[in-house]
Amino acid sequence: MSRPMELAFRLGWYILKNKLSRRKRYPLVTMLEPLEKCNLACEGCGRIREYEPVLDRMLTVEQCVAAVESSGAPIVSIAGGEPTLHPQIHEIVNGIISRKKFVYMCTNALLMERVMTRIPPSKFFCFVVHLDGMEDAHDRSVYRKGVFKIAVRAMRQALSQGYRVTTNTTVFNGCDEEDLIEMFTMVTEMGVEGAMVSPGYQFKDVPNQELFVSRRNARRIFKNILDPSRGLRFYNNPLYLDFLRGEREYDCTAWSNPTYTVMGWREPCYLLGDRHTEEVGDLFDGGLWERYGVGKDPRCANCMMHCGFESASIFGALKSPRDIYRMLDSGVGAS
Ligand code: SF4
Ligand code: SF4
Repeated sequence: MSRPMELAFRLGWYILKNKLSRRKRYPLVTMLEPLEKCNLACEGCGRIREYEPVLDRMLTVEQCVAAVESSGAPIVSIAGGEPTLHPQIHEIVNGIISRKKFVYMCTNALLMERVMTRIPPSKFFCFVVHLDGMEDAHDRSVYRKGVFKIAVRAMRQALSQGYRVTTNTTVFNGCDEEDLIEMFTMVTEMGVEGAMVSPGYQFKDVPNQELFVSRRNARRIFKNILDPSRGLRFYNNPLYLDFLRGEREYDCTAWSNPTYTVMGWREPCYLLGDRHTEEVGDLFDGGLWERYGVGKDPRCANCMMHCGFESASIFGALKSPRDIYRMLDSGVGAS
């Protein structure tokens, strides 16, 4: 199964409706975290550390669906924690796709084969498998041997059963660029819809702060690993890939990816949780965004994450017919 055309139509129609109603800030992707617990403990993971006191909490199916409805975005990215650990994850996914929202479920793939027995293939549902390199590099990154093999086996099985599958790779300092290129080549040849990439965000709770790349270093790495001449299939839209290579600048629009967790909506963004609120509308308040973004808060200085800048590339494209054409030509990606 490939990226459905309906995704671009629904997203385009949704953006048009919001433009016509002159809404200045609105969500494109709801980030939903039904739990923060995980069956791995990766070195660069901020979530399992930040939410340590509430790792035993889970959202109910009703809370998940209510959060998705109150946000209203046409795309839902389910993350965490490891979402497949939620005993009702199939009810959460099926409840959201029955509302014709496109669901991308991030997973480390350890329980993916079990989930496939409960969630049928659908154009509205896509697995996003965490892969940070080939076998040695990935198993080192997730601190457990054997995870790479399980992930690749589960991806092959999902593809053979007609599921939509993408991968998600976080780039850290000192990464082996040739190894990453080998992994992107492997997943392209396997037939995944594409590989998502972004640099790791410098979570303050991660003990090894040397892991995280500066903007300058990230651009140098992305210039190499995203070289279009290799013909590798990336899932992020081409304008965001230009941004990662340092060929474009955008202001952060993180309000377009509101994140709902066991403690409520993160404020201001997926990465910074200075506060939690039960009102998604609080995240679209102009006053809030006078305080956050590159040049406003020092914690934003090196941020290039898709939650802040991929949506910015989509909003930026609305001002340029040529950029709209480039995005449509590649199939729009906002997840
Ligand atoms: S698999 Fe994901 S959620 Fe789990 S520890 Fe690793 S980065 Fe964190
Ligand atoms: S730049 Fe935007 S997305 Fe990144 S940490 Fe700051 S507010 Fe969040």
